[in-house]
Amino acid sequence: MNNSIIADLKFDEERGALLYNDVRYLLIRPETLIAFQKAAEETLGVRADDLLFAGGYTGGTLSAKKYREVFGLTDAQSVEFMAKMGTEIGWGKFTVSSFSVASCTLDLIVESSPFATAYGKSERGVCHLIRGVFAGLARGIFGREVIANEEECLAMGHTHCKFVIRGV
Ligand SMILES: [Zn+2]
Repeated sequence: MNNSIIADLKFDEERGALLYNDVRYLLIRPETLIAFQKAAEETLGVRADDLLFAGGYTGGTLSAKKYREVFGLTDAQSVEFMAKMGTEIGWGKFTVSSFSVASCTLDLIVESSPFATAYGKSERGVCHLIRGVFAGLARGIFGREVIANEEECLAMGHTHCKFVIRGV
């Protein structure tokens, strides 16, 4: 299998733990996350988006820092690494369409998002975890706050999800 994450994944049977470079991961059905998302939306409306975004943001910040250190990655390599990892952990097929530290811009295309697929139809983007992860990554690289939008989403009827991140 051409998947560097799975190839290096360790299983600690004693703890019931999956580890990649000593970082614990878990497998979870998209439906589990989406049920949480929809329950949060019922209570909070649009503000629920921020909850998943915050979760992704924390994960993206931690992962970017960790793997930059482990693999000695440059800024551009970090972005490519995180996109490849996103693909390899099953979050959809990631492509970095543009990235510039000078202009603080990062654009990302994700095909076949499992979050959008599990969610069904929506009038706004639903892939807040992905949006958050890459906002966290970009925040670290740009050294300034960022705005992250999902301008197109599979759940909105587009052919893929498109994330646009800008330094502010
Ligand atoms: Zn989406």
